[in-house]
Amino acid sequence: MTTLPKCPTCSSEYTYEDGEMFVCPECAHEWPMAAAEIAEVGSVVRDAFGSMLNDGDSVTVIKDLKIKGSSSVVKVGTKVRNIRIVSGDHDIDCKIDGIGAMQLKSGFVKKA
Ligand SMILES: [Zn+2]
Repeated sequence: MTTLPKCPTCSSEYTYEDGEMFVCPECAHEWPMAAAEIAEVGSVVRDAFGSMLNDGDSVTVIKDLKIKGSSSVVKVGTKVRNIRIVSGDHDIDCKIDGIGAMQLKSGFVKKA
């Protein structure tokens, strides 16, 4: 990604680069780019309500989700255990009882 990271302190989107540092114009927080790159690798994934999701978390599906290439549907309220955060459009890798391995979008789940 080429976009600048959001400010880790106030979540401002108006960060800019200043040499080796990122600077937030809203709260004056400065942080080194090297740290931001590390953060980017394990980029923060949030659920539909803004809770941070981590590997091993359990989530609940908040919307019926059709599974591509099959007639199965992951019903709203389905509990998914032991998720794994991955990068991409679908940022949660998981296994659902009765369905198998699949990927979900973090915007369609709620941290359990
Ligand atoms: Zn800030």
